[in-house]
Parts: sequence; C-alpha cells; structure tokens
Amino acid sequence: MSSARLSGVGVSSGRATGPVVRVAEALPEPPAGLRTADTKMEASLIRPAAEVVAQRLMERAKTVEGDARAVLETTAAMAGDPSLIKSAEKLVVDQSLTAARAVHQAAQKFISALQAAGGYMAERARDVQDVRDRVVAELLGLPAPGVPDLASPSVLVARDLAPADTAGLDPSKVLALVTEEGGPTSHTAILARSLGIPAVVACRGILAFEGTSLDVDGDTGQVRESDGKVRTAGTGKKASWNGVGVLKDGHRVKVLGNVGSPADAQAAAQAGAEGVGLFRTEFCFLDAAEEPTVAEQTAAYEAVLAPFKGKPVVVRTLDAGADKPLAFLNPAPEPNPALGVRGLRVAFDRPEILDRQLEAIAAAAKSSGADVSVMAPMVATAAEAAWFVDRARKAGIQRAGVMVEVPSAALSAKEILQVVDFISIGTNDLAQYVFAADRQLGGVAALNDPWQPALLRLIAQVGEAATATGKPVGVCGEAAADPLLACVLIGLGITSLSMNHTALTSVGAKLATTSVDICQLAARGALAAGDPGSAKLAARAPH
Ligand code: PEP
Ligand code: MG
Repeated sequence: MSSARLSGVGVSSGRATGPVVRVAEALPEPPAGLRTADTKMEASLIRPAAEVVAQRLMERAKTVEGDARAVLETTAAMAGDPSLIKSAEKLVVDQSLTAARAVHQAAQKFISALQAAGGYMAERARDVQDVRDRVVAELLGLPAPGVPDLASPSVLVARDLAPADTAGLDPSKVLALVTEEGGPTSHTAILARSLGIPAVVACRGILAFEGTSLDVDGDTGQVRESDGKVRTAGTGKKASWNGVGVLKDGHRVKVLGNVGSPADAQAAAQAGAEGVGLFRTEFCFLDAAEEPTVAEQTAAYEAVLAPFKGKPVVVRTLDAGADKPLAFLNPAPEPNPALGVRGLRVAFDRPEILDRQLEAIAAAAKSSGADVSVMAPMVATAAEAAWFVDRARKAGIQRAGVMVEVPSAALSAKEILQVVDFISIGTNDLAQYVFAADRQLGGVAALNDPWQPALLRLIAQVGEAATATGKPVGVCGEAAADPLLACVLIGLGITSLSMNHTALTSVGAKLATTSVDICQLAARGALAAGDPGSAKLAARAPH
C-alpha cells in the first residue's frame, strides 16, 4: 500500500476508523513427508503447545457470558484433552513424524470418528478441527487461524470470510471489514450489510498493507491509513420511512426484508419491512452435518416467521452449493460447482429432501400465522418450475413461485409465468451467470455491478412478461437495496423489492420521493447506457 490508500467495492454503508486486526489465512496441512530425528524432543513440544492453547481459550472464556463462554470453555477442554495429546506424542515416537504433523493426524482420527457417529457428534468435528488448527499454529509459531476474538473495537482485514465466519461477527467489536477478495454480491457483503458493519470487498493490495490502523468508507469503497483513533459514522443522511412502500403518486411497491435467521427477521420487522421477500432457509443450517428432521426444520422456520404473523413471507427452499455449501446436501466434487448440481437441481435426484422441507414449511406457516409462499432457487426452465409448483401444492402450500437467476429462466419468463404464481429475480446470481463472472471473485467484481446495462436489459424483459400476465415480479438480489436502482427496477415493471434490513429505510424513503413516470424515465436512460457509471448518471437525471 505505497500511498497508504486503496480502493475496493463499498458494499455495506457507513464509515469507521480504527486499529487493524488481520484474520489469519487458513493453515495448510503440515507436510506428511518430513521426519524428525530427535523424537523425544519433538514429542515433548506437543503438551506445552496444547496447554498454551487451552489456557488462552480459558482466559477468553472469562471475558464473555452465556453461550459464547460455554463454547470457549468446551473448546479449551478439548485442547487440553490428554487422549489427543497422548496419541499425537505416540505418532511422533512411533513414526518419527513432526509434532505438527502428528497433531494433525491424531486429530484427524477423532474428526473421522465424530463424523462417522453423525448427528450432534458430527457437528463437534468442527470444534476438533478448530483445536487442531490452533495447536498446529502454536507449534509452527503462526497466528491462530479464523476470525480472532477481538479485545477491543477493530477493523478486520481478511482475504475473504466464509458465511459462518461472517455470521459470527460481533458488530460491537467489528468496526469495519475489508477483504482482498469477494464481490459486491458475495455472502460476505450480504451478511456484513445485515449486521450493519461497514465493508469494502475486492480491495486489491489490502493483505500487503503493513500499517496498524485504517479508515474504511463502505459507501465509496475508499480505504486509507489512519491515525489509530476509533471513529464511526453513518452515511450522514438519516432517512425516515413509515413502513409502507408507496410512491408519491400513490403507486404501491412492497418493500420487504431478506432474512436468514430469527435475529434478521426481528431486525427486518423492526425496520418496518412489510413482509419477507426472501427467507434463505439454508442459512439456518450452515453448521448442520446431517439433514435436520422435519420437526427441527419446523421449529427453525417458526422462529423466523414469528415476527410476521399475518404478513407475506416468501420462503425459499434450500439453495445449497457453490458459495453456500451444506454438509448434508453436498454433491460429489464438481469441476464447476456454480454450474453444477445446486439449488433446485439437488432436489431432482433427492426429491424426498425437498418434500420434507415443504412439509416443515407448511407446518411452520400454519403455526406461525404468517402468509407463506414458497419459491425455488436456480430454476432454468418452465418444466422445472412446473415440477416444483406441483410438489409445493401437494404439500399444501397454495402459493408457489420461482427465482429467476439463470439467464435461460429470464429468457423463458413468459412460459414460466404460465405455471407459477410469481417470480422473484435474484440479481446476484443472474449477474454472475450473465457475465460469466464468479460473484465471489474480486478480480471480476466490476462485471457483477448490478448497474450493468446488460443485466438491466434482461430484467426489463422479465418485467415486460410479468406486466403482460399481471403476475407479480419481485427483485430480491442486492440490486433492490440501492435506492436509485430500486427506482429503475420499478420503471422496469418490478412490483416488490426485498432487501437486508439495513437498506429498508433508505429505499422506502426514496420511493416516497419519486413517481412511476420518473422511474420509467430513469429506467429508459439506464437501459440505453453503455456502462454502469453512465447508467447511474442517466437514472439520476430525472430525479
Ligand atoms: C440472488 O442470487 O440474487 C439471490 C437473492 O440469492 P442468493 O444471494 O442467496 O444466491
Ligand atoms: Mg441466488
């Protein structure tokens, strides 16, 4: 960072300044080929390293309460577990392995046994992996992997974060997030926004930054070295909104929330969401090693539906694969997971998993009193859409739709609309597939900009088909969370917008200042533009 100033893509609003904490890279597997001559000395390194790890975890446990404390205490106990230490020491003595390799191998035996036991035990395998990586890091003199526990408010710098890592961040400790990789529609961006943490992704060169403090602007994407003081600021403009999506000419556009957990649902309801346009059910089970039972799923869905009694909620069936792996749905290894058996495609081979989920959704709809519809992700053809709608109806769910996030579905919108009750455009994936640009890859982030005119032209085609049939068409990708782009989408015929709770007020407030005529002018200008910057300017002109 020669000029101590970098830029990336600002994906979560707000500005924060503070000390930098780096998220250590994932540890590579210690080499198997290395041998040690002094096995006694090498074996003697293991116990002290494990004890240091256990002690550090216990110290941290003392600083927190409740679940977090219990998790840290359990992990500390695992680190000090004499059977893990003994079996690693034995591997060093018997096979002349290095201490790091021996710990890795010994832990692997426990991990495999836990995974084979299934259920709750299999979920504990993750904890053993965590302990293993901490002890190996200690032995190699490397920083502990994963998101560190933050003693004080800090700016996190990482290559990228897994959804489970980001979901566990504490917004009171994480001032801002800067990643070298990731794109504007990656789940890191989405989760950062839902936690209200300012974030900049695709910030090339941030991993090489050696300073101790950063100023991060989640709106402009600017990241620069700072003086070390802790400061935070919102976007400056405090919009207000009364919770009804209505344009100044009286035109109604439902403003809905995107949710993935009970906390998200509460936050969306509190921010005024008129309902939920996208409930990402897979986010409930990121840690599950096995398919949750119908009763477990019903309970998980009820908890999310609870704040929306009597309000519309669109529940999306499991969208696993590529950037959202679910242990119990993972297909065989594929060369191109984003193009593989993901989303609804998983259900073609294993329809019983979909049927169990639909059964749980129907039960949760009944008990919660929410006005529930279902929709399927990654639908490519009208035949697939009809197959899904039929199964939903058989499960007793009357309103069923599909997502349009594959270009073929957008091009078949007319045919799809004949067999579904509604469609919802997932602009995150639609952009990824239209531009053949991985949504998680910083290097192609500019192609995934939802202001790309080619993406808007495809959305326009879907909007026209929906207008002709009179059936509703929503947008639940990140495009809906940008107030100006939301106006363009309305001009393209979109009838509802669904977004993370942090965007609801700014989008709702913007709608109150515009009219359908202005939105149509904005849309026309954006469609005719040659690039995202010009599309934005053209959309701003009539406003
Ligand atoms: C999308 O692809 O736009 C979408 C809303 O689904 P997800 O981000 O969960 O893939
Ligand atoms: Mg998607």
